[in-house]
Amino acid sequence: MSRQSAAQSIVYIKKRSIRMYFYIGSLSSIILLASVLSFLYINSLRRSSEGIMNQLSSSIIEEKKRFLRNTIDLTLYLIEHERQQVQIEYARTNIPANQLKTITVDRIRNLIHELRLIDEGYIWVNEIVNYEGGDNYAIRKIHPNLPQTEGMWLSTKTTDIEGNRPYDVELQGIKRQGELFFEYYFKKMHSERIEHKMSFAKLYKPYNWVVATGVYLDDVDQLIQNEKGKMQQTADTQRLLTLSFAIAAVLLTTVSIVLFEKQFIRLVSNYEKTIGEYTATLEELSTTDKLTGLFNRIKLDEVFAYELAQAQRYEKSLSLLLLDIDKFKDVNDTYGHQVGDQILVEFSGVLKSNSRSSESIGRWGGEEFLIILPETSSEGAILFAEKIRQLIEAHAFPVVGTVTCSIGVSTYSKNDSWESMMERVDKALYRAKGNGRNNVMCESTPHSA
Ligand code: GH3
Ligand code: MG
Ligand code: MG
Repeated sequence: MSRQSAAQSIVYIKKRSIRMYFYIGSLSSIILLASVLSFLYINSLRRSSEGIMNQLSSSIIEEKKRFLRNTIDLTLYLIEHERQQVQIEYARTNIPANQLKTITVDRIRNLIHELRLIDEGYIWVNEIVNYEGGDNYAIRKIHPNLPQTEGMWLSTKTTDIEGNRPYDVELQGIKRQGELFFEYYFKKMHSERIEHKMSFAKLYKPYNWVVATGVYLDDVDQLIQNEKGKMQQTADTQRLLTLSFAIAAVLLTTVSIVLFEKQFIRLVSNYEKTIGEYTATLEELSTTDKLTGLFNRIKLDEVFAYELAQAQRYEKSLSLLLLDIDKFKDVNDTYGHQVGDQILVEFSGVLKSNSRSSESIGRWGGEEFLIILPETSSEGAILFAEKIRQLIEAHAFPVVGTVTCSIGVSTYSKNDSWESMMERVDKALYRAKGNGRNNVMCESTPHSA
C-alpha cells in the first residue's frame, strides 16, 4: 500500500468512530432532555391529580354533611311529632307534667332506638343542664350505640384519643348558632374500633336536647390515603426511572465526549505526524541528490548564502572545494552507466565519511562535487582537499579499482559573492585538470601533492 492511501485509511476510520461518538453523545443528550421533561410532566400530573382527589374528597364530605343535616331535621320532626302525639293521647287525663314528660321521653327513646340508618348510623341525644359547661353539664339521654351509658353524666373536659374535646366543641357550637358540624374520634357501633367521625348536632329547644348523628370518615380517609399512596408510588417509580435515565445519559454523554475527544486528538496528532513526515520527506527530496544522498544544488545555494553571511558579518574565513572525477566518461564508456553510478555513490561515501558535520557536501552536477568549509582558511582548505584527493586515490572502488579526482579551492575575500567564489573555484579546478589531473589547485596558486 502506498503512503498516501495508508494515511487516507487512517483518516477514514477515525472519521467513522468520531461520527459514532458524536451520535451517541447527541442521542444521550436527547435522552437526558426527555427524562427531565418526563419528570416535569409527571410532577405536574401528580399535582393535578392531587387537586382532583381533594375535590373528590370534599364533595364526598359535602354529601355526608347533607345526609347528616337531613337525618337530624327528620329526627327533630319525629321528636316533635311524638311529643305532640303524647300530649293529644293524654289530653283528657290529669297526668302530672313530669310523668307525661317521662312517658314522652321513653317513647322518643324507643323510637330512636328503632331507627336504622345506613352504615351503622344512629342518633343520640344529650340533655344540657348547664350551658356553662364543665363536669356534669349534660346527661346522656339516648344512645343506641352505648345504651348502658344512658343516664350518665357528661363533661366538656372529656377528650378523645386525639385530644379533641367533642362535648366542649359541641356545646360552644350549640350556644353560638344552635347547630354545628364537628369532628372527633369515637367507638364504632358493633365494633371496638375507634374511628375518625364527623357529626352534626342540633338543639331541640323544648327539652334542651342536643340531637346528633354522625358518620365515620375512615372511608374518605382511606380513599385519600390509598390514592395518595398509589400516587406516591407512581411518582417514586417515575422519579427513580428518570434519575436512572438521567444518570445513564450523563454517563453515556461523558464517556462519548471523552472518547470523542480522544479520537479527535488522536486524529489531529496523526495528521500532525503524517504532515510532519511528509514535510520531512519533501524537504529531504527537495534538498537531496537522489543518487548519492548528498545535498543538491538548491541546498548548496542555501547553505552557501548562510555561510557567506556569517563570514561577512563575523569576518570569518570560508572556503569552497570543487571536485571533478577524472576521465569519468571513460568509466561509463568502459563499464557502463550503472557502474558509473556505483562509482558516484562510492565516491560520495568517501567524502561523507571523511568530513565533519559542519562541512556541507553536495553534488554540483554530473561527476562534480562541491564542499563548503566554514571557518576554514585557504591553507586549511588546501590541506583538506589534499587529504581527500589522497583518500580517493587510495580507495579501492568496485569494478574499476582506482579513481582519481581533481580539486579546485577558493577562499572568501572581502566583497566576494557566491558567483565570484564559484567562478574562481571553477577556474582552479580547470587549472588542476590542465595540470595533469589528480591534483589540487588553489585559485591562482598551484598546489600539488
Ligand atoms: P575529465 O577528466 O576532463 O573530467 O573527463 P571526464 O570524462 O570526467 O569529463 P566529461 O565532462 O567529458 O565527462 C563527464 C561524464 O560524466 C559525462 C557523463 O557521461 C558522465 N556523467 C555525468 N553524470 C552522470 C551520472 O549521473 N551517472 C553516470 N554514470 N555518468 C554521469
Ligand atoms: Mg566534469
Ligand atoms: Mg570529469
